Amino acid sequence: MSEPALDFNPGPTKSFLAEVIERSGQPLTACYQCRRCAAGCSVGDETDNLTPNILIRMVVLGDRDRALNNALVWKCVSCYTCGTRCPNDIQTARITETLKKMGKAEHVEPLEPQIADFHDAFVKSGLRWGRVNEMEFMGAYEMKFALRKIREKDYGAIIDELKNQGRLGMEMTRRKRMHFGFLMAKGRNEIKALQRKSKQRAR
Ligand code: SF4
Ligand code: SF4
Repeated sequence: MSEPALDFNPGPTKSFLAEVIERSGQPLTACYQCRRCAAGCSVGDETDNLTPNILIRMVVLGDRDRALNNALVWKCVSCYTCGTRCPNDIQTARITETLKKMGKAEHVEPLEPQIADFHDAFVKSGLRWGRVNEMEFMGAYEMKFALRKIREKDYGAIIDELKNQGRLGMEMTRRKRMHFGFLMAKGRNEIKALQRKSKQRAR
């Protein structure tokens, strides 16, 4: 008797799919692979042909390792273009965000560590103050970048980064696009409460 083409284990597959559906709030099983989302993805040229429909198929088939850590999960810019095109109203931006969080909770080494650091610094600044303060968030990101490069003994990358960011900062200041002020949103405690609630739901 010939071997089965796929080693499909329905138990873990079902629970992974159910978790992504519940946490993202998106009806993944409604996807019928029409690829309208794929045709309009803003980062389509950057993701090694991994389009939103393929990501959804990975989750549905229980390809957990690849679904949690791939170029689309890390490069999706949450533009929601795919969702507006989808006949089933599937918002892949919510799925990529969910997979990012699940990968982080499981300590999966991110495929794009720089983007992961940037994302982490951005989200933490937003949650702490109710809005993102550019100086604080960029400072936190640069610190993470430098620590990682020190661990990798890549000191040249730190010098290059400082030069690039210095040049960029000066240019943005010249164009009056740098915001040095420090602002807190009035509703920041509500945002923190929402985060606590979502963490409890995810447990
Ligand atoms: S547009 Fe919607 S239904 Fe079509 S492939 Fe993309 S996610 Fe699936
Ligand atoms: S939300 Fe993400 S996956 Fe959807 S089109 Fe934009 S970049 Fe692509």
